[in-house]
Amino acid sequence: MKQKTIIWLRNDFRLTDNAAINEASQNGDELIFLYIHNKEQELGAATKWFLHQTLNSFKQDLHSHYNAHLLIKIGEEEEVLTDLIATYKIQKILWNRVYEPHAIKRDSKIKAKLKDQNIIVKTFNSSLLFEPSFIKNNAGEFFKVFSPFWRKCLSALEQITEPYKKPESLSIITLKESKEISLEQLDLLPTEPNWAKNWPEIYKVSEDDIHEKAQRFISDKILNYKTERDFPALDATSKLSPYLHFGIISPKLLYYKLIPYLDDSKGAIHFFSEIGWREFSYYLLYHFPKLETANFNAKFDGFKWQNDMEKLKKWQKGQTGFPIIDAGMRQLWQTGWMHNRIRMVVASFLIKNLLIDWRYGMKWFADCLVDADLAANAASWQWVAGSGADAAPYFRIFNPITQSVKFDPEGHYIRKWVPELAHLANDKIHQPQNVKEYFPEIVDLKESRNTALENYKNLKTAK
Ligand code: FAD
Repeated sequence: MKQKTIIWLRNDFRLTDNAAINEASQNGDELIFLYIHNKEQELGAATKWFLHQTLNSFKQDLHSHYNAHLLIKIGEEEEVLTDLIATYKIQKILWNRVYEPHAIKRDSKIKAKLKDQNIIVKTFNSSLLFEPSFIKNNAGEFFKVFSPFWRKCLSALEQITEPYKKPESLSIITLKESKEISLEQLDLLPTEPNWAKNWPEIYKVSEDDIHEKAQRFISDKILNYKTERDFPALDATSKLSPYLHFGIISPKLLYYKLIPYLDDSKGAIHFFSEIGWREFSYYLLYHFPKLETANFNAKFDGFKWQNDMEKLKKWQKGQTGFPIIDAGMRQLWQTGWMHNRIRMVVASFLIKNLLIDWRYGMKWFADCLVDADLAANAASWQWVAGSGADAAPYFRIFNPITQSVKFDPEGHYIRKWVPELAHLANDKIHQPQNVKEYFPEIVDLKESRNTALENYKNLKTAK
């Protein structure tokens, strides 16, 4: 029987392989597509920009494929849903699950309340390969180390069903909604100065464009991914992170695209393991909901941070006097994205040379990244800090100059983002001295490294 149904979209703005939409299409349900914007939820500036583009593109896709409308509402989720259910005599709600701790709490409450009112609520996993509660070790506990976690996932791949096709047609409820909000009223875009002026050239957000982007990456770059992925001047990684975050493409679809390569391409296997790190981040967040605020390894709670706010500002602005750090921080500011190798180097520098608490770095990333993702961001910052699950050992302190020489040997990346150094020869560019237009080094690498090691050693001996 056809039922009046709301599809509540969150981070799953796609028509292909969208479990909730697929369910509705199978049953011929009459649909309202809904997005609720809760202003209480903190979103970074770059995230807001990206969300605006995503909603805009999804709206257009709904319209062109199904003559459907995306209803946008502002407010508290439970209230908005209750209101709509009454207005439209809704019988069923479908959504794909999200895994941020606050969202899990909110959704469970809403689900229980709606079920009490005899509304059918069906929820799906559509953003991860595996539900975080599904993967367990032999003792039935959650894994704290990546390799056995990923081995277990790999052993269960046959359970991943084929991606759902974009439905041919859908039944739509025509709305006469008086309190509708336009996308512009969400105020997601920056006002003057518009720091995102050239971002539309960098980021195409339509679902079709992203399928093509993923396919192009796999066809052209996957074979060399393992050997080239660490060099920030090369265009060797997929740059799919914001699209995975907003659900414009699903990890399941990527997996199916990768299958033909997984038997004998080291590049494909490595790339798939990075999708595995994404899974692991969500898995950790699910099992340790305080991942964003508390050290996973409580031993690190006593670490003596210096938290010098002037130095933090210089790091944020890319004015540290260390070219590879400044290049990364400026790439982040100017484009909303930073290469993974450089994310590790700038994070290590903030934590282990400037002795600034990882949570300050994580917050800055959350504000500036278009792919800002609570799970990946928190897990990665804790990984670099050494406080995370299966983290880098605390004594691994990247030397930014050695990293620069190794991964940007000809200085192409530095020249692009720190143009005031572009004229320097390769042997000078990694550690310029006395360049008038450039910033002095804000920290002594050797001294700060020793202080960090001393601090970490004291942690080891402290109870
Ligand atoms: P590719 O190399 O093409 O990898 C494919 C996909 O795998 C990525 O799109 C991403 O979804 C996933 N992935 C890759 N590496 C990781 C990882 N270490 N952890 C989790 N998922 C991964 N990634 C985010 O998506 N959001 C964040 O907020 C984020 N913050 C980070 C903070 C720090 C300090 C560090 C060191 C890493 C962070 N990462 C984050 C992980 C990683 O840097 C980015 O996912 C990657 O650089 C995105 O580029 P790409 O899509 O070209 O990656």
